[in-house]
Amino acid sequence: MFSGLASPKWTKSLHRRLVLATAAAMIILLSSLLNMGAGLEDVWKDGRDAIQERSATGDVVVVEIDAASMAAFKRWPWPRSLYGRLLDRLAEAHPAMVAFDIDFSAPSTHAEDMAFARAIDAFPGTVLLPTFRQAAGNLTDDFVESLPIEPLRQSAFLASVNVHPDADGIMRDYSYGTRTAGVPRPSMAALLAGTTGKIEQGFHIDQSIDPATIPRISFASIVDGSADLSHLAGKRLFVGATAIELGDRYAVPRNGVLPGVVIQAQAAETLLLGRAFPDLGRSPATMIALAAVFGAAFLKRRRNRLILLAGTIMALHVALLASEMMGVATFQVIPATLGLAAAFAIIVLIGLNETIFDKERTDAASGLRNGVALTEELVPDGQYRIVAINFRDFAEITAMLSGRERESLWAQLIERLKIGSGAGEIFVYRGDNYVWALPADDPMDELGEQLEGLGAVVANPMTVGAHAIRLKPHFGISQGAGSDGADLLARAIGAASKPSSERIWTLDDIELARGVRERHALIGEFPAALGDDQFWVAYQPQLHLAKGQIASAEALVRWRHPTRGELSPGLFIPIFEEEGLIQSLTLRVFEMVIADLARWRKEGKTLRVAVNVSGTLLTNEMFNRALHSRLDQAADVLHALTLEVTETATLTDPERAIAALEAYRAYGLEISIDDYGTGQSTLSYLRSFPASEIKIDQSFVKHVATSKNDQLLVRSTIGLAHELGFVVVAEGIEDAECLAAISEMGCDIVQGWHIGKPVPAAEFESEYLTSAGEAATHSDRLTA
Ligand code: C2E
Ligand code: MG
Ligand code: MG
Repeated sequence: MFSGLASPKWTKSLHRRLVLATAAAMIILLSSLLNMGAGLEDVWKDGRDAIQERSATGDVVVVEIDAASMAAFKRWPWPRSLYGRLLDRLAEAHPAMVAFDIDFSAPSTHAEDMAFARAIDAFPGTVLLPTFRQAAGNLTDDFVESLPIEPLRQSAFLASVNVHPDADGIMRDYSYGTRTAGVPRPSMAALLAGTTGKIEQGFHIDQSIDPATIPRISFASIVDGSADLSHLAGKRLFVGATAIELGDRYAVPRNGVLPGVVIQAQAAETLLLGRAFPDLGRSPATMIALAAVFGAAFLKRRRNRLILLAGTIMALHVALLASEMMGVATFQVIPATLGLAAAFAIIVLIGLNETIFDKERTDAASGLRNGVALTEELVPDGQYRIVAINFRDFAEITAMLSGRERESLWAQLIERLKIGSGAGEIFVYRGDNYVWALPADDPMDELGEQLEGLGAVVANPMTVGAHAIRLKPHFGISQGAGSDGADLLARAIGAASKPSSERIWTLDDIELARGVRERHALIGEFPAALGDDQFWVAYQPQLHLAKGQIASAEALVRWRHPTRGELSPGLFIPIFEEEGLIQSLTLRVFEMVIADLARWRKEGKTLRVAVNVSGTLLTNEMFNRALHSRLDQAADVLHALTLEVTETATLTDPERAIAALEAYRAYGLEISIDDYGTGQSTLSYLRSFPASEIKIDQSFVKHVATSKNDQLLVRSTIGLAHELGFVVVAEGIEDAECLAAISEMGCDIVQGWHIGKPVPAAEFESEYLTSAGEAATHSDRLTA
């Protein structure tokens, strides 16, 4: 159909959506790279932990050195025998393990140390003692491992209790073990839980495990025998400081500040509950988000794009929650979420914009697109027509209808127009002007016929409520390249409002209008131009091949227009001929040529000049008389004048034309038939004219060197013309090859740009008339 209207709107094209998807992908990658929204990530992680909060197994029991214990034993550090007493008491309860989160790397007194060592040795279960990794000194990066003193580690297992808060000071991770100076050491929690993992490999302490559900029992209450130890059988005990004054406390994500021993117990519970799952980082969500934005680009409907993006966000979060609940893995979702949300916002904003854009281009009443949309879609300089429809007495007809009936009328009308217009789309301009565009290269008469048919269809009565409405349509058509859509639209509507009785359509052709304007301007300016001597004569040399000389010239009129510059006769001669202005112009040309000829003659330069005379003038008595009177006064140049007439000019009234030409011959003028070959007459017919010369039209001459057809035609014309006694002139010699071909065919005289262009009299004189000798040299140069 009509390509200008079928082209997709860029705002809705796949290409556009892919560009936007790429932009969104950049946002996603950037936010992932910069770990944007890390704070939000933490908050959401806490939220998820809160949602799935769980209790500890109860297998790990913290034996806390609490405020009460500190109060009971008064001094700190405690004598080591106290820990021995603890073990002795616990032995009766049969716990599986007792782990100490207390530094025993420095000796106290020998008696105290040995008392504790003996108790460890006597304890029936496993005793775990801590090792610490610490910097070897201020000036070194090396680490050393501080072990419990020799006597204590005899019967105990050793485990590291190093913990590493994150950069923000919050403790999130725990490791399966550490390696210090090449010695691997399991972590206390790993050993306590009986789990093995890779040394130096970390896991997140599961903050969904509520630390308050880890059972605690006061150190002092065990030693003083007040505690009930019956439930400790098989349990894993973790002895450590919880008293605030001992300072072993760390900030954790969800639960504020916790004692180190509780955190380690929570780490052990994490392992016991199988919740030390891997952290996949930001990549999985980032990849999924990227896939989603590019996937969305391939969805045509905006709504579906939004659903996909929002759905992806939801799915990511649900998947994360589910995966954490099942203890499979965790990953970060906030950067991807932010990126997806940005993409979502972009689409919504653009959608809003497009809605406004579409609103501005839609007719509210009919829902059809309006004139703004139409003019925007018409490519400048595109080849199209605009057709508009208008109805006579429209206001009167619709005045008697209700709002609803009017709508029904529009709907029926639009339906008929859609079917009958042959256009892809009907547009509405200012409420009640229906317009459409069609390609301009379809023949005008076909369009006329089509509009006749459509007019009949539209004029068929339409039933609206109780009324039968008969519309009287008239179409306006506008066309013309180079004008913008708005101009075309206005012209079509203007034309539609000018009903004519002859036809159902009115054409507003911009080129035609432009031509008419120009025509009127030229006609109006003519008298002044004649008075101001704006017309002048250019002479184009003609080379006589036998003589090798420029022996004649054609006089060609020029208009030196004050504002438009040099105008060619092709522009104004036809207009002047039709408007009857050619007469005075031709007489003026004769006057100028006669004056030039007389001057050259005085200077001893002989030359023949051909003057063009429009055919209409030959039968114009007034003109003939006026020219005769000028010829009467130019007796000495009459034999140097040729009168050029076109063959078509002689056909309308041959008798009178021939009589007029005879009269000019009687004056001594030669007659030449111009543009021979473009008309219908044969050479033998032209024989009855008093002409002595024929000028073969340039259209046959131009390609004579290359076209076999033209060669045949020109050669036979020259031959026949010669037989009939004509001198033969060839016009339009543009190059040496053409000149050579024409010369070889025996042509008498040649004229064309290759010989010389039309030039002012003075230039012609100095260039071609200095002496006969130079003219000969000139021709030698040409024929060489
Ligand atoms: P024409 O009488 O056939 O004049 C020949 C035209 O061909 C001239 O155009 C000339 O400039 C052009 N021409 C010459 N050599 C070549 C060439 O090698 N190649 C091409 N392509 N063209 C060449 P111009 O001057 O524009 O005149 C156009 C027409 O206007 C003339 O055709 C003639 O019919 C008319 N005309 C010119 N002067 C007058 C005049 O004073 N009175 C009247 N009634 N008509 C005139
Ligand atoms: Mg001519
Ligand atoms: Mg000609």
